[in-house]
Amino acid sequence: MLELSQSDRVFVLTGAGISAESGIPTFRGVGGLWRNYRIEEVASPNAWHRDPALVWEFYSMRRRVAAEANPNPAHLALATLERQLGNRLFLCTQNVDNLHERAGSRRVAHMHGELFKSRCDTCQRPPFSDHLLYQPPTPVPRCQCGGRVRPHICWFGEVPFEMDTIFQVLQHCTIFVAIGTSGVVEPAASFVALVGQKARTIYVGPEEPANRSAFAERYLEKAGEILPHLFPLEGKPD
Ligand code: NAD
Repeated sequence: MLELSQSDRVFVLTGAGISAESGIPTFRGVGGLWRNYRIEEVASPNAWHRDPALVWEFYSMRRRVAAEANPNPAHLALATLERQLGNRLFLCTQNVDNLHERAGSRRVAHMHGELFKSRCDTCQRPPFSDHLLYQPPTPVPRCQCGGRVRPHICWFGEVPFEMDTIFQVLQHCTIFVAIGTSGVVEPAASFVALVGQKARTIYVGPEEPANRSAFAERYLEKAGEILPHLFPLEGKPD
């Protein structure tokens, strides 16, 4: 178990692995194919220009999978930790599902966007909540301005969200914990190197990540099994 002091500031980075025990598949676990979709054909600006209907079919399928999933003990443990640490915890996720929020986390930085939000690909209308499925025969949705409504997702080749805040918080954290992320996808894979020697660095997940040498401590176990015991949580996660 990690002892936390009053001055500790904890940065938690989560990846697809934390939602695996909730039944949402990771990408790498399936060799680049996600339920018969090749990621680069459905998750890039080129894919959107080439075939927006196929892109929406893919994200509609992911909305369906995520809506059927429930938070697991790892999500719940992080929500409990937030209630204890307040703003001394910064939760940054690469996941686009909403399981952290559904577990009770109030402040989540979704650097790769959110599955249940959409935005216009043309005008500046802010992203909005959207749980609808757009698959044939439902057409690709249109904005009032005439542009197409797209998923609020950071695709390959696009700039992740909230990076200024993330880099600032990384500078001041004393404990960095990465959970269920393969250490391959940038820029998240480099966060651990940025905190360097000044913070305690911990990895949680059943396999060694590609950037394993950057972590001082590694717990090679499933997130749902170890997270409830990793931090000194008061009371049980609810
Ligand atoms: P990844 O698919 O590259 O790697 C998943 C990692 O999770 C692997 O290292 C694996 O060992 C680990 N893992 C598997 N089961 C686990 C468990 N029970 N507990 C802890 N770890 C476990 O995922 P990534 O590094 O997050 O990067 C891939 C990209 O895929 C990200 O951009 C992410 O946005 C996206 N993605 C998101 C979701 C989601 O929102 N739930 C699902 C799939 C992919």
